[in-house]
Amino acid sequence: MGRRKVICPRGAVSISWSEQVKSSGIPITRVQFAAADCCPCPLRPACTRASEKGRYGRSLTLLPREQQEILGQRRQEQQTEE
Ligand code: SF4
Repeated sequence: MGRRKVICPRGAVSISWSEQVKSSGIPITRVQFAAADCCPCPLRPACTRASEKGRYGRSLTLLPREQQEILGQRRQEQQTEE
């Protein structure tokens, strides 16, 4: 598990991957990129509000597959006329 990684559109490789459980009981995965990658990145204003001070830049929360798919569908619906 500890070796799982995410590569962002700029090619940065995540430096942290941790399995957590929300207070609601839903298991999530927290993925973080290095501030050293995100701070100089030209996409940063559109990508993350992470502070320049910490060790981490962009973070991602991954939900279990089922919830992730539902969330993806809802986000798509929000971009349609209806
Ligand atoms: S801000 Fe960080 S995560 Fe976002 S595109 Fe740039 S390097 Fe990748």
